[in-house]
Amino acid sequence: SEVASMMDVPVTKVISACMSLGMMVTMNQRLDAETLSVVAEEFGYEVEFVTAEIEAPVEEVEENDEDLEPRAPIVTVMGHVDHGKTSLLDYIRKENVIAGESGGITQHIGAYGVILEGGQKIAFLDTPGHEAFTAMRARGAQVTDIAIIVIAADDDVKPQTKEAISHAQAAGVPIIFAINKVDLPTANVDKVKESLANMNLLVEDWGGKIQSQDISAKKGDGVKDLLEKVLLEAEILELKANPNRTATGTVVEAFLDKGRGYVSTVLVQSGTLKVGDYVLAGTTSGKVKAIHDERGHKIKEAGPSTPVSLLGLDGAPQAGDTFQVMRDEREAKDIASKRTQLQREQSVRTQKHITLDEIGRRIALGDFKELNIILKADVDGSVEALTDSLQKLSTEEIQVNIIHKGVGAITESDVLLASASDAVIIGFNVRPAGNARMLADKEEIDIRSYSIIYDAINDIKDAMEGMLSPEL
Ligand code: GDP
Repeated sequence: SEVASMMDVPVTKVISACMSLGMMVTMNQRLDAETLSVVAEEFGYEVEFVTAEIEAPVEEVEENDEDLEPRAPIVTVMGHVDHGKTSLLDYIRKENVIAGESGGITQHIGAYGVILEGGQKIAFLDTPGHEAFTAMRARGAQVTDIAIIVIAADDDVKPQTKEAISHAQAAGVPIIFAINKVDLPTANVDKVKESLANMNLLVEDWGGKIQSQDISAKKGDGVKDLLEKVLLEAEILELKANPNRTATGTVVEAFLDKGRGYVSTVLVQSGTLKVGDYVLAGTTSGKVKAIHDERGHKIKEAGPSTPVSLLGLDGAPQAGDTFQVMRDEREAKDIASKRTQLQREQSVRTQKHITLDEIGRRIALGDFKELNIILKADVDGSVEALTDSLQKLSTEEIQVNIIHKGVGAITESDVLLASASDAVIIGFNVRPAGNARMLADKEEIDIRSYSIIYDAINDIKDAMEGMLSPEL
């Protein structure tokens, strides 16, 4: 009946169309993706599966400018392994850069807020790394306002540093570099800045616009200044939210506690979450029984940019799920169970990503303007040569963006980035490593492998002209 009303035809006609396909259906039956397409075609419609999300009706709130109030920035820390991400997050969490309460935060709930001496607040996502960041983005959650990218000064810009930069840039999130371990005698800050400059990333004292701060995450030197720079960046972004509405936000993590039930850490992004609210989060729902801050203190409500853990959901939502407060419990429960049902009927894809075969059609439809590519190759020379040639394929209609490039195998992190940014992956003399292939199949990411540069370029060119012959 839903399809019938979308097509504006009597439901009996849809039922008989199904019968002619040999399917006895009732009015309220859900059709699988293929049946939907065939039936729609019969009535002259083409089905495009955009998402299989069931949107909850967001309470219509008149958002006037005067309702918006400044909110704290939400920060993610990224960088190469062992460069000091965890140390930095730990230092900020535990040490006295924070005004007020002594003792700091000892609990790990996936996110925490700090209050600086001037009274300003910053919220940190406490799961370092761009994988977590992009996994959330792949689920449609854009939580981070600012990315701190940590680079060890006794090392250099490393592959994962580059990845982190690409992931932040693909998300349109401004970067602040934290050049770490300056306490070490082997630290060479200038070398790091030079490497960044060679990648066209000019930090402020090299005449550029990107903020950078020398720090020692171990000793705490420079951390205060780093946080000041975060606030400066936040000021430029003019981050605002309306605290006086029903709350919406994103789930950061969730787990089952034997004594307390499901504990979910959420970041309120708009509105104010209160004890007693009916919450819908992904495929779970429930009445908020209690709210705790990162210090384990019970609080009654939480406004924008506040990370809190809450009790009362009937399950563990996934990181990156959005949550929202609903008018009544029934409604929240209904939508949650519909979503669960939909998840079970895996016939309808939750997400559909671009493939080379599809580009021509999408361009013809006029809704495709940018082709995002992630490029991995065995040697740097090939990366550069391919980048150059691929970018030159840009036309007036369609822009080719190399959103990430690097030397090495295609990783899970590449697939996540492709999923979050709707990109195709091109491998030159490299293959997917570890679980990357499996993840790509699951996320429906198009990975193409080549060993001749000319072939790669020709395929993309043909795809853009809608002339690619289907992959065998
Ligand atoms: P992550 O993998 O990026 O989270 O890195 P960690 O925070 O685990 O740090 C890796 C190693 O570097 C640890 O042994 C830290 O003690 C050390 N480390 C981190 N920051 C500093 C620093 O500022 N100075 C020195 N000397 N060592 C540091």
